[in-house]
Amino acid sequence: MIQRGYRYKLGPTPEQEDLLAQFAGVCRLIYNIALEQRRDHWQRFRSRTGQNISYPSQARELTLLRDEFDWIAAVSQTCQQQTLRDLDRAYQNWFKGIAKYPTPRKKGRNDTFRYQGREVQTRKLNGKWSEVRLPKIGWVGYRDTRALRGKINNATISLDAKGWHISFAVAIEHEAPANIAPSVGVDRGVANTLALSTGERLCVPERLIKLEKRQRRAQKMLSRRKRGSRRYAKARKRVATLSALRSRIRKDWHHRASLDLSRRFGTVVLEDLKTRNMTASAKGSADEPGRMVRQKAGLNRSILNQGWHIFETLLEYKLEERGGYLCKVPAHYTSQTCAECGTVDRESRQSQASFSCKHCGHTDHADTNAAKVILRRNTASMDMEEGHWLSCEVSTRKSRKALENPPPSGGGRC
Ligand SMILES: [Zn+2]
Repeated sequence: MIQRGYRYKLGPTPEQEDLLAQFAGVCRLIYNIALEQRRDHWQRFRSRTGQNISYPSQARELTLLRDEFDWIAAVSQTCQQQTLRDLDRAYQNWFKGIAKYPTPRKKGRNDTFRYQGREVQTRKLNGKWSEVRLPKIGWVGYRDTRALRGKINNATISLDAKGWHISFAVAIEHEAPANIAPSVGVDRGVANTLALSTGERLCVPERLIKLEKRQRRAQKMLSRRKRGSRRYAKARKRVATLSALRSRIRKDWHHRASLDLSRRFGTVVLEDLKTRNMTASAKGSADEPGRMVRQKAGLNRSILNQGWHIFETLLEYKLEERGGYLCKVPAHYTSQTCAECGTVDRESRQSQASFSCKHCGHTDHADTNAAKVILRRNTASMDMEEGHWLSCEVSTRKSRKALENPPPSGGGRC
């Protein structure tokens, strides 16, 4: 079973567009009221009822609200329940320590609501268009850019600077035969987004960097405008359009790169990166101000510009579809380790681009060397040389036996 998302651009009529905005607005309001209740009134609620505020208690109050106000009852109840579930999950994630405290949803940023899969139906209209039936809204057309497969779990409708979109989360029954294609190690970096152990180096389009600069300029202009004015709205639209464009270009590139890798290789080995830890601010506190804060902020921006996380997500399901799998190995010292002899020496990394081992004299492009190290960390030989056991985390649900890697002397050439 593979979980996938399919996103399409909706083509609503002006009346439907008003309805979509109304649904998103009411769901946002419910989210914010429910958040306020959990944030400010949980103690009073507990002393009154002896229980904590939870999803069931809030869903019961939602029913009362719907009886009282027609404009709340005008919006699908499941959409509102899904919104309460979102809030509940946000709290669970905060309790677990994997997310920050939930914040209110904002107009223009969180215009979104969700139906359950069994409530929506789709049908094809012609070669380019299909339509989806949304309860209480009706049949809404969408630009059918690729075939929808599998069983729909839910459908999320959202607005960005380019208009309304629908994402179907689907579950696909799929059993792929084991893939016997060779393995490859991939090093993710800033100068080269992806470096393969085969010696190839791939980089996100340069246009992304230019667009990022343009967006920063637009952001600066926005901050000078008077809030609520027409010129402010225009500047905000500009920032949002640039941001949406950037994310589209980045995603497209990662789709292509991950598709290419999943077709050529059976096993892809990545280093286990914690992007959030890597992009923490260097600002420090008032008592202990950090050093090189601006430089670190610039590095963080370039790391986030690369889209490492999105690459991992796309690659994982593309490999799974073809019977391959994604493997993650610990990331420490990959840039300072020699791929030939396994010696760790920071002197070996001479510059951003060149690696020359102080121990055995092996020279290579620094990123290619790191990719080979990552590939070899997936095999036992390297673990022994480095003197510690590095466990491999297989991210597919069914863990299978690792495929044979090329021998170390092959340097990962496939
Ligand atoms: Zn060496």
